Amino acid sequence: MYNDLKGKVAVVTGGSKGIGNAIARRLSEEKMKVVINYHSDKEGAEETVAELKKIGGEAVAVQADVSSEEGIQTLLDAAISNFGELDLWINNAGMENQVPTHELTLEDWNKVIDVNLTGVFLGSKAALNHFLEHDKKGNIINLSSVHERIPWPTFAHYSASKAGVKGFNETIALEYAHKGIRVNSIAPGAINTPINAEKFEDEKQKAATLKMIPLDYIGKPEEVAAAAAWLASDESSYVTGITLFVDGGMSLYPSFEKGEG
Ligand code: NAD
Repeated sequence: MYNDLKGKVAVVTGGSKGIGNAIARRLSEEKMKVVINYHSDKEGAEETVAELKKIGGEAVAVQADVSSEEGIQTLLDAAISNFGELDLWINNAGMENQVPTHELTLEDWNKVIDVNLTGVFLGSKAALNHFLEHDKKGNIINLSSVHERIPWPTFAHYSASKAGVKGFNETIALEYAHKGIRVNSIAPGAINTPINAEKFEDEKQKAATLKMIPLDYIGKPEEVAAAAAWLASDESSYVTGITLFVDGGMSLYPSFEKGEG
């Protein structure tokens, strides 16, 4: 538990399922008040809110598209109108689809960039303005990916979006550090969430993924949420501009594991 989080207000984008949902739950356990954003999964978000309220949590489900300024404003307004404040903004919403790059349409490229990169920009901008206006040492956390570093053939738009998040994360961390605002990224490896459900149902694909994970298992959303809670808390007070890899060692070049070659 991080006592300094108690009573503070967070927005978590894409929080109806997967990693965002685990983060929203963890922050609620830390006694934060949470705006849980969803895009289309109203049921998932509302069920989560109902469950959290039952155990004394304060949360609200809010529909919004993070790739639009309107959507982001709706989320900020929800934090202020429901909880009177904003302390933490988590840019978690993301999407991916697999297409060989020579067949990738401009429409698919734009969709992924709009959500994964523009969404991070718009969310961060809204949070930064709020923090600056209220002279607040706020906190921003971005969900990147190991693919901000590791190339991922047939996911060029996804990799480009996450590499963009890295540059954006480091730049705004530097730009606003003097205001006491901290900005960090988390780079998950392979985590068991709906984004990967189809892939991990296929035993062959799952085995191929496991070969790339030195710790030998697919990660749990709660393991990413634990990293988010730490970055949100004062326990990480001297940390800004980093990407925290939560990947079971996936980014350690596992093909070199046996010292061969
Ligand atoms: P997920 O598909 O389970 O959840 C993503 C969420 O984002 C969904 O709730 C979805 O509705 C939401 N979303 C998509 N477009 C949106 C939009 N326009 N506006 C608002 N919400 C939108 O995926 P996840 O695995 O939980 O991924 C969460 C984040 O972590 C993503 O940014 C993803 O790229 C990143 N990530 C995940 C993994 C993994 O293995 N699961 C690995 C690396 C990075």
